[in-house]
Amino acid sequence: MSEQLPESFHPVAADESFSFSCHPGVPCFTECCRQLDLALTPYDVLRLKNHLKLHSGVFLEKYVIIAWEEGQIFPTCYLTMVDDGRESCVFVEKKGCSVYQDRPSACRSYPVGRGMRRRKNGETEELFVLVREPHCRGFEETPTQTPLQYFADQELEPYNQANDALLPLLQHRQIRQGFRPDRSQLDQFILALYNLDMFRQEMADGRIKMNRPLNALELQALAGDDEQLLLLGIRWLLQEFFGA
Ligand code: SF4
Ligand code: SF4
Repeated sequence: MSEQLPESFHPVAADESFSFSCHPGVPCFTECCRQLDLALTPYDVLRLKNHLKLHSGVFLEKYVIIAWEEGQIFPTCYLTMVDDGRESCVFVEKKGCSVYQDRPSACRSYPVGRGMRRRKNGETEELFVLVREPHCRGFEETPTQTPLQYFADQELEPYNQANDALLPLLQHRQIRQGFRPDRSQLDQFILALYNLDMFRQEMADGRIKMNRPLNALELQALAGDDEQLLLLGIRWLLQEFFGA
């Protein structure tokens, strides 16, 4: 695995300790909030738009750049950076992150990266790397923790759960067999995963149909539960793309 990783990535076991701490006293404080491509997951957008009390459509318009490049299967949503000569994150302030409570998963997990690998027996396993970049001085701090402890401390569980719920869609076998979404399916992808408030409205108005009756949790989603709505959106896309 290490052969395919960038130089700054160092594989680490889930229960292996490493020294690291990030706090306002580090000399590099907020350095990692600049000059970065910050891809947002659907759950990141859910948390941020609720933090800012914005309709998801307004959030996308204000803070997100949607990119879909040749060769990519699905589009990527990037957080806007400010044109201040340092390409700073739109949410970074002198005292730190202005959306800290609901900051995106990539910000929470840094400098630990997590990936999922499917074993031959079909089970999935978590893999971790430490991203040691020259600007990050947190590795000079003494507190130690394992990747699992670090993720717990950063309250990443709901983020990881939501991201894992996407895997049946993003890693569907029909994609390996050549499925590629068309233009209207790309719009459906953004609607159901990133523009949740609009998706809810379209469901309520009957413009979106599921091929089976909604269960109690899905009805809860329509009544305002965004976490459940995201799961419903994934199910709808599986239905629309793969006939699931
Ligand atoms: S969202 Fe917050 S933690 Fe993440 S890059 Fe922006 S300011 Fe930094
Ligand atoms: S560069 Fe590293 S230590 Fe510095 S603020 Fe970012 S995560 Fe913390």
